[in-house]
This record gives sequence, structure tokens and C-alpha cells, in this order.
Amino acid sequence: MKKKGLLLMVLALQALLGMSWFFGWPLTIWQTPVQDGPYVFFGQQQQIDAQWVCDGEKRQLQQHQSAVLEPLCGFSKRLQIRHRAEPLPQVKFTAQKLAALSDIHGQLDLMQNLLRQHGIIDHQQNWSFGDGHLVIAGDVMDRGPAVTEILWFLYQLEQQAIAAGGQLHLLLGNHETMVLAGDLRYLNEKYRQVEAILGLSYQQLYSADSVLGDWLRSRPVLVQVNDSVFVHAGLHPDYLALGMTMTEVNEYYRASLGMDKATLKQQPVLDFLYGSLGPVWYRGYFREKAAIRSGELEQLLQQLHAKRVIVGHTSMDAIYLHQGGQVISLDSNIKKGESGELLLWQLPGMPAGEFMRGNLRGERLPISPFTAAKPD
Ligand code: ZN
Repeated sequence: MKKKGLLLMVLALQALLGMSWFFGWPLTIWQTPVQDGPYVFFGQQQQIDAQWVCDGEKRQLQQHQSAVLEPLCGFSKRLQIRHRAEPLPQVKFTAQKLAALSDIHGQLDLMQNLLRQHGIIDHQQNWSFGDGHLVIAGDVMDRGPAVTEILWFLYQLEQQAIAAGGQLHLLLGNHETMVLAGDLRYLNEKYRQVEAILGLSYQQLYSADSVLGDWLRSRPVLVQVNDSVFVHAGLHPDYLALGMTMTEVNEYYRASLGMDKATLKQQPVLDFLYGSLGPVWYRGYFREKAAIRSGELEQLLQQLHAKRVIVGHTSMDAIYLHQGGQVISLDSNIKKGESGELLLWQLPGMPAGEFMRGNLRGERLPISPFTAAKPD
């Protein structure tokens, strides 16, 4: 009898599940319902159109751009939507203190914990780094489930940083360039549901008419802070052959974001910038394939008037020194959602002029040269 009862229960459960699929219910019984947004679009006469997915259903409102946008679900803070973003003409900055991390890939809590532990933000997730500079070296999008929240958090944090005399530099990584070009291979499953519920593709959600899409299109790929050049993946020696300034390289990217591969391939400069040796993809500081040769990095740094290149993109278990300290790798595998590190320089109490790595426990540790077999 017991067996028969169990069998009936299983059959009934199967029937219910089948029905929910059949009627297209938003799976509220079986999965946590999707919460996401806002996706905000610039409209006519300074109106904005904001869309959310709350409990698996579309919510939408229009209001004047200057009015505060109250949270419904997804990003939990009130938002002041700014005008269309203007790219900063400046690419070289001087900072008194500095923090950097990369490859957040949708892991909001981990990133905020790291920033909070080291005093970059406070307990309300607001900027508390004064005139410090924070560099996010690309790849905030794809893989993880809190991409929208991260982008709004950084959008807001940038404004707070500037107001305090500091700066937030969000650099574009290969995942941002992929999403903007409609390459959605690494999209978290959650956003497939959001696409279906809002009736817009993910690429449309980040179109040039969306507030975050417009903001991303104003971000640089290269930035120099003090004597460090920051770039998502790395600069190959061929970079010098372009004969372009950092500003020009950033402008080339801006003008080409969203272009399809065939179009990029027709133009040699763009083919290089978006190719495997380009600044958002290159791995030759850490791998044998297309490895940078001794002397080449030195020459590159001389031309850039910099002492080191600081990059993300290639995952390791911590922050490391490479190439005799001329390269620092930032990607500490935050994408796994378990741990991660923050690069720190000249924070209160730190030895003058020394780079250190900060962990989730708030400890500051020296950075070791990378010695393990091979990075991921
Ligand atoms: Zn990357």
C-alpha cells in the first residue's frame, strides 16, 4: 500500500508540473520567481521608460528623467537617472590611493563584501573612499545572476566617487563587447526569462537608447592611473604598431561597439582590437601561446611611460605578480562566487608605495610572484 501511495503522489506531482509548463505559468511554484530591473530607456521630451520583471511579471512606468526612480524589484535603491553619458576625454589620472578588481561576472554580493571590507564603500553600499580611484577592469557582465544590480550600483557609485573628489573607472572587457554585439553565449539563464517576459532581446535591453547601454558605450578600454596602465586582458607588442594614443584606441572601440564580426574583420585596426591579440582578449603574459618575449614588455612600458600593466581576464586563485613585477593579474576567480581579492595601493595604514591584495576577511597581504603550473 505504501508503495502505491508514493507512486500516486509522484504521478500527481508530474501531472502538476506538466500543467504548469503547458499553461506557461511563470514557474512561481517551482522556482524562485524572477526579479530584475530596472531597464530604463531614454524617450521623447526627457521622458524615461522603465521596465522591470517582478515576481516573473512585467512592470513598466514612464516618468520625467529628472524625477527619482523608486525601486520596485531588482536593484534595491532609488535612482537618479542622468543625461546621456559623455566619454571622459582624459585617459591618464593621478591618484593618492587606489583599489582595483576585475571579472565580477554578476557576483554582486562578493564584490560589495570586498569593497566594504576595505573601506571603499560603507554599510549602505555608498562610496566611502574619498578622493581614491577604483578601477573595475572589465567583465562585469555574463555568467552570474546579478548583472543589472551591479551595473546600477556602479552607475551610482561613479557619481558618488566624483562628488567626493575620487573616480571610478569601469573598463570594458570582452564580455561587455560581446553582449553589446549580441553574442550572448555566456548569458545567465535568468536573463533568457527576462528577455521572454519583456519581449526584448538582451542586446535590445542594452541598446544605445537604454541608460545603461549608453553609459557602457561611454566607457574606456584603456586607462592609466599614476604609473600603471589598466586594461582588461593585456597589450600585445603589436599594439605599438598601431601607432595610436590610448585616447584614439578608446575612440576606435567606442565607434565600433556592437559591430558584427564580419564588419570588424574588414578593417585591420578593428580586426586587431577585437582579435585574440587585442587588449580585451590577449593572454600572452601568462601562456606560451603568443607569449610576450623578454624585452618586448619593457619596450611597451617605455613607450607608454608606465611601470606596469594591470589586467584581468585570465583567472587565478589570487592576485599575482608576473614578468618581474611588470604585470599584475587581478582576476581572482570571483566568477565562481566563492572568493576573490581586491588590489590596494596607499590605503590608510599600508606601507607607502606598496601594492597589496585585500581579501574578504579584510586582511591585506603581500602579492607573490605567480609560480603555479598554469592559470585557468
Ligand atoms: Zn575577459
